[in-house]
Amino acid sequence: METELDLSGLGFTTISRLGKGGSATTQVVRDSADGRICVAKCVLLDTLSKHHQELAKQEVFLLQALRHPYVVTYCESFFMDGTATLVILTEHCEGGDLRRLILRTAGSASRFTEDQVMMWLSQIALALQYIHGKKVLHRDLKASNLFLDKNAAVKLGDFGISKVLEGTADFAATLLGTPYYMSPEVCCNELYSWKSDIWSFGCVLYELCMLKRPFESEKLPVLVHMITNDLYDPIPDLYSDGLRSLLCQMLTKSAAARPFADEILDNSYVHSYMAKLDSLAPDLSCGRTPP
Ligand code: ADP
Repeated sequence: METELDLSGLGFTTISRLGKGGSATTQVVRDSADGRICVAKCVLLDTLSKHHQELAKQEVFLLQALRHPYVVTYCESFFMDGTATLVILTEHCEGGDLRRLILRTAGSASRFTEDQVMMWLSQIALALQYIHGKKVLHRDLKASNLFLDKNAAVKLGDFGISKVLEGTADFAATLLGTPYYMSPEVCCNELYSWKSDIWSFGCVLYELCMLKRPFESEKLPVLVHMITNDLYDPIPDLYSDGLRSLLCQMLTKSAAARPFADEILDNSYVHSYMAKLDSLAPDLSCGRTPP
């Protein structure tokens, strides 16, 4: 089925195409009414199973409810007349996604500085603290779902398989997400929890330091063995003890021993970077300042 959609009749001019899958296209558009630039994700609902239709609609529902400096901002959504197409408009993050930046950086044989990694760590922790506070599990946290704005601030996006939990002790049972970032408990068919998002966050943090994922294998059983036995290459000491110890806590096999997003932000080493966030843009640290 043709998935390229012309939104000009609806007052949007396509500036560039970002991606095209079997049931969705993603493009950068300009709203002729006010000139704002957004990303339009057009989802052809009738090519999806009932379950995936629900996930697409849920993405809208979740995005509408989330407003945070480090979460991709929702603009609007609508159904296109005569087609079962759901169009979701969100802010455009000009820097693209973090996975691409990691690959580019690896290709140029350079590394991210400790300062840069710590800034992103603080921003992702703030985004997770916010969504977890709203009882939302992301469930697909990975470098390609973290986007960069023009100031290189990171924003959490793609809530396609997120889940809202009823209570803080509630868990999500469905196995979804990306295998490389799958937590040990998910590998063992246990329930997904806040700490599973923290595991995936640890994987992203590792990737920022090492420019490769902690656990990689083409073969799922091998990948699961690596994940459930904490088999990853150690981080070189060009990164601080503070950062490496935090990373080890996040990639701890026991979910109970992993820190919550709140606890990551309360870590004394992370506090020093929160001060930098404040000085860069006071409204971006969400009022959290070190004591
Ligand atoms: P997928 O990630 O499954 O390929 P998406 O439709 O989510 O499909 O994204 C397609 C492309 O668009 C990806 O390269 C992604 O990095 C990019 N992209 C998605 N949302 C945004 C955004 N808000 N700002 C910038 N780039 C985006």
